[in-house]
Amino acid sequence: MNVYDSERISQLLAARNYRLVEDPSDADLIFLNTCSVREKPEQKVYSLLGRVRALKKKNPKLIVGVGGCLAQQEGNGLLERFPYLDFVLGTKEFKQINRLLDDLEAFGRRGMATSLNGRVDPYVSLPSSACSGKATALVSIMQGCDNFCSFCIVPFVRGREVSRPSGTILEEIQTLAGHGVKEVTLLGQNVNSYGNRTPGELSFVELLEAVQGIHGIERIRFTTSHPQDLSPALIEAFGRLPKLCEHIHLPLQSGSNRILERMNRGYTREEYLEKVTWLRQTCPGISITTDMIVGFPGETEADFQSTLEIIAQIRFDDLFSFKYSDRPYTRATQFPDKVPQEVSRRRLMELQALQRRITCERNKLWEGKTVEILVEGRSKTNAEQSMGRTRTNHIVNFPGKSYPMGSLVRLRIAQPLAHSLRGDISS
Ligand code: SF4
Repeated sequence: MNVYDSERISQLLAARNYRLVEDPSDADLIFLNTCSVREKPEQKVYSLLGRVRALKKKNPKLIVGVGGCLAQQEGNGLLERFPYLDFVLGTKEFKQINRLLDDLEAFGRRGMATSLNGRVDPYVSLPSSACSGKATALVSIMQGCDNFCSFCIVPFVRGREVSRPSGTILEEIQTLAGHGVKEVTLLGQNVNSYGNRTPGELSFVELLEAVQGIHGIERIRFTTSHPQDLSPALIEAFGRLPKLCEHIHLPLQSGSNRILERMNRGYTREEYLEKVTWLRQTCPGISITTDMIVGFPGETEADFQSTLEIIAQIRFDDLFSFKYSDRPYTRATQFPDKVPQEVSRRRLMELQALQRRITCERNKLWEGKTVEILVEGRSKTNAEQSMGRTRTNHIVNFPGKSYPMGSLVRLRIAQPLAHSLRGDISS
């Protein structure tokens, strides 16, 4: 979501004749698009702001702005704490960047726009120049969330769930396809509930069907799904829509029913397992990834063992794991039985070691198989190689640098690695 938002901010700034530079010391304006979902990224922003201060000392005309979730969370507090900060832009006010910069340029006035009321349409369509030459694109389909998981700040900094009208989504995807984009990822905090709160709007499955019909789009992905809203119709779509890629990111968060209830997740481990079984029956070979939190308040050793057990049982293709941290406004901050940091750290290491082993074993299953990949560009680690993804979202690096971005090629997997696969062009 932040990558998507940053693309839009870049476009708004490009319309004011700014262009991207690699080195921050060459910049006339620095915009930090922030995340506050955990404590660590928040701390990173504060330390980055310290570094930006040094740049501003050297170049007093440098404009510094902070946007995104931390901006929404802290608002005016950021302007008070960092006197060299020029503006603060909330998650639904991106288009206000023009007003804030006008004020700054004309009157030297520092400013802030952090309303969550949806007065301004937060979506900014990319001009065609920004889509050209890209193989893949992110498309936001909704904003906010109504679920109020007890650990999560999202409903407070991104607001309540609002679905974007399907007409504008499909128009944007048609434009992307017209400029050569082959794969779209539909984005939202809880895409499964798309349209549910808007009478007359398409359901999420109907939206997928409409995207399936867009000429030029070869692959469809979406993220993120909430297990409680993963409907039979959506599971069935995996077996029915040929462009829908065989991958789902389905955050589980804990393997313990007691902790899931305290997290207000709305499902049990048994219900989650049932959906995984159903997904694998409907779409054999689907890759499933997840998110896990360790050290949630009140998590006992037995709860943690339940988490390890379910990871070993499901054998996810990969997972993102985090230590719990208190977030402002959330219910879990009030829970008294916090888990000591050293216990959380040890559990996180144990969980990650287990998943590393499973990911390696699952990656080995790809050896010798022939797969279709969508070329996304050069390999990040070897300029003589290209990089693409399988439909199951596995990264594949392979020899040759002349493959055009957006081409679909067939490869034999020659070597599975810990985090990616190495391919050979099959004959
Ligand atoms: S569903 Fe996701 S975004 Fe919404 S409150 Fe829960 S964790 Fe946060």
